[in-house]
Amino acid sequence: MPAGPDPTSAARRNARTILNRLKKRYPAIGTALAYRDPWQLLVATVMSAQTTDEQVNKVTPVLFRRWPEPADLAAADPEAVEEVIFSTGFYRQKTRSIQALSADLGERFGGVVPGDLDELVTLRGVGRKTASVVLAEAFGVPAIAVDTHVKRVSNRLGLVADEDPVRIESALKALHPEREWGGISMRYIQFGRDVCDAKTPRCWECPLRDRCAYPGKTPAP
Ligand code: SF4
Repeated sequence: MPAGPDPTSAARRNARTILNRLKKRYPAIGTALAYRDPWQLLVATVMSAQTTDEQVNKVTPVLFRRWPEPADLAAADPEAVEEVIFSTGFYRQKTRSIQALSADLGERFGGVVPGDLDELVTLRGVGRKTASVVLAEAFGVPAIAVDTHVKRVSNRLGLVADEDPVRIESALKALHPEREWGGISMRYIQFGRDVCDAKTPRCWECPLRDRCAYPGKTPAP
């Protein structure tokens, strides 16, 4: 991962203040995806692309009841899987991904999800963002997943000035002590959904307004 220049102590303090306010707003936060083990979370996270966690939670009970282990899902008839996950959208692509990653798990990891970022991203259909979600949520390993919300919020707040997810991850890691990494993404994501919306950020009621230099702030309605 590319390492940028060390952040100043003022930048670290600012990042801590921002995170503390988000912790106040979201004291306990984790993924809304329902899962019983790391493999289920991996599958559910892949399926959550371009849809809501709620929608994914409606289909995963059926999916995991029908194919309870990675080997079962890997060997399933793709059309039957597509039928089950149809309502989450992009169902063909998602079926290919969840079957491929389940097959990889069986072939190379004995059906057990590795708790290591470098190994997780070798699974077909698993990117750095998905791997980081699984590490932070299912393994409690310090990781920061950068999705569209994390990217937008951290740029608007001036914590980063970058569009590249890997460099943003690196910059956020440099700004925060490792013990905080696991609690960053979910709070940024929720804040991005609730307040710092992509099109119309609710700046008038934003608890971070005094920390934000975003020039496109929305005036009170
Ligand atoms: S002030 Fe507006 S743009 Fe800045 S973080 Fe808050 S909601 Fe987002």
